[in-house]
Parts: sequence; C-alpha cells; structure tokens
Amino acid sequence: MSSFHRDTWVEVDLDCIYENVQAIQEHVTKGVTVIAVVKANAYGHGDVQVANVALEAGAKYLAVSFLDEAMSLRQQGITAPILVLGASRVSDLPLAAKEDITLTVFQKEWVEEATSAYQGTEVVKLHLKLDTGMGRIGARTQEEVAQILELIDKAPNLQIEGIYTHFATADELQSSYVEQQFERFHSLLNQVTNQFSIPMIHCGNSATTLRFPTRIFNAVRVGIAMYGLTPSPEMEPELPFPLKEAFSLHTKLVHVKKLSIGESVSYGATYTTKEEEWIGTVPVGYADGWIRKLQGMNILVDGKFAPIVGRICMDQFMVKLPHELPIGTKVTLIGKQDGKKISSNDVAAKLDTINYEVPCMISYRVPRMFLRNGSIMEVRNYLQDKPLE
Ligand SMILES: *Cc1c(COP(=O)(O)O)cnc(C)c1O
Repeated sequence: MSSFHRDTWVEVDLDCIYENVQAIQEHVTKGVTVIAVVKANAYGHGDVQVANVALEAGAKYLAVSFLDEAMSLRQQGITAPILVLGASRVSDLPLAAKEDITLTVFQKEWVEEATSAYQGTEVVKLHLKLDTGMGRIGARTQEEVAQILELIDKAPNLQIEGIYTHFATADELQSSYVEQQFERFHSLLNQVTNQFSIPMIHCGNSATTLRFPTRIFNAVRVGIAMYGLTPSPEMEPELPFPLKEAFSLHTKLVHVKKLSIGESVSYGATYTTKEEEWIGTVPVGYADGWIRKLQGMNILVDGKFAPIVGRICMDQFMVKLPHELPIGTKVTLIGKQDGKKISSNDVAAKLDTINYEVPCMISYRVPRMFLRNGSIMEVRNYLQDKPLE
C-alpha cells in the first residue's frame, strides 16, 4: 500500500460499485454479460480496484479505450477478458494476441492489412463495431460489414467474438433517434447472423441498459451507472433502482486567518471582503483538476456550505469560512458531511458539463483511497506508483 504526504485524497467506495454492478446484473437478467467499462483509470476511480470489484460482483468482461489501458490492467494482474473499444494499430496485433486482449475492428482495409501483416499462430479475438448513427467509429454499410466478416472468417488467427454499436442519445427521454439506431442495428445484424456465428451482440451503454433492459441482446457495456452516477439529469426521476455514488474528494484546511473589511484574496484581487471575514486556505488547485471555473462554488467545511472566494490557483484556493475554524478541519469538495452532500452532478452543473467529466478530471496528483466493506482496503498514490518516465 502506498502512502501519501498531502492532506488531500479521493475516496472510492468500492462497496457502492459492487452494489451497483449487482443491481445492473439483476436488472438485465442472469444470461446477459456485464462488461464493466474501466477506461480512463475507471473514470478516475482507479482501474484495477474497480475491475476487481466489478468482477467480484458478477461482471464477466472489462472494456477500455486503448490497448495501453488494457496492458495496464494485465500488468496489475487482471486475467479477465478485456475489450479495447477504440482503434488499435495493426502492428500491435502480436501484443494483443500475447496478452489475450480483444480488439475492436471497423475498417475493411485494417482487416486486410491485418491478415497479411499478422502471421502469428495465437488467435486474436475481435469485436466488429457498427456505426448506426453515432458517427464516430464503425462500419456503416451492409457490404463493408460482410467484407470484414468474410476476411476474418478466412483468417485462421483472427476470430470474430462480438458485434456491437453505440447509441448517441440513449440518455435523452425523447427516443426517436435511438429507435432509429436500434432499427439500423437490427437490419445490419439480420444480414449477417445467419451466415456467421457471433457469440456476443451488444448495444447498451448505461443509459440504454437502464432504460431498455429487454432490448440489449446478450451483453451490456456499463460505465457511468456502475460508478453510481446517472447518465443524464433527465433520467434521474426514471431510474429503475437507486445508484450509489462511489467517488468523493476531501482535504483539510492548511491555513486560517481573519481579514478585515476591504482586503483582497488571490490572483487578480477579484474578491474583496465586505466585512471582517474568516478565510481558510485549501491545498487543492487546478493542477488537481479543480479548475478555475469552480470559483464561487459552495464546498463543505465543518458540516456547512462555504463559498470558494477569489481565483483558484494551481495548487490552492481560499474559502470563506462561517466562523473561525482550526487548521486541519476536514473540507469536502465532493461527497457528504453531516447529512449535506455535494454530488459530481452539482460540480458538473456549476461547470455546464456532464457528471462523467468530474471524476475524470481529478488528476493523478490526488491519491485514491479505496474503501471495501466499510474500511480502507488500499491507498494508491500515483506519484509514487507510476512515476512519469
Ligand atoms: C464509454 C463507453 C461506454 C460506457 O458508457 P456509459 O455511458 O459510461 O455507460 C460504452 N460503450 C462505448 C463504446 C464507450 O465508449
């Protein structure tokens, strides 16, 4: 277990993730494979710890965006199947084979190149991505799909294991676009499933899984809901079961002072006291991902909401305290204190963005503390464990 030497830390409650995965598995019924999406260091939550607890709770597959993320999991001892959702290089096929990492394919040219460039005997498992309206990556036409599948079929060291698509608007209650994507997916599938045997078929991100549990084929790719966050604010009232938010961010006051009326705080002197005020200094800044746009946001100090005053610096910011408080008082930027709560949703609302971005943006400089069965299981300080090379 690594240690850390600053009083700022993320808490990741793995019990919440465990319960969310179990609830999702029950929601989609037993036969459906839950693919736990742990890209981007598990949305900032800690890749290997989330992967392990998700697998413990019943997930059978993991997904990441890039081969390097899959390698990171393998290096940390994960043996479960891992799907890379993004594009990979043909030249990395031997590595994928060696590490048993499943790749996504979506271009005929890529597969052609692969069949000539990759001469290994170890089989690489592939999932074919279809673009049914997301407009990101994926084969779009019947011909392309058939050509790719035929090429894979002929290659003895390539194996088609899955076929999937991704929806652009599943988190919006107005469903006409997602229905159109469902239709295109069905029509592309109809053409190929009688000719090729493809064991896994999936289209469900969290929003699709929560809203259309009977229409997700035989696997789902769940990210945000596993972390206890709702894919969009409009889905909040419709949730089929409660989600438990796993991520919280805490620190401690490192300095407290009384300013007299008319004194200013931080760069640009943008905040001036209107009376005698108690001002605390918080050792978190934009280099931790607590960006300058959060100026003015209320945080929790001593069980009370208190506003961030003045500009947020790279490593520190100031907070207007309700009254004098001792140095070392716990400060919560995301999470609960005395029954009051700041959710990643609140931070997202302040930033005019989506909750996904919030845990992702809390940087590697902030150590992660993992709670399991209510107590500290592990601490990960990325500055010590993964020094920059
Ligand atoms: C990130 C991602 C997911 C997970 O989406 P959530 O909304 O977080 O559940 C699923 N599929 C693909 C292709 C993704 O890129």
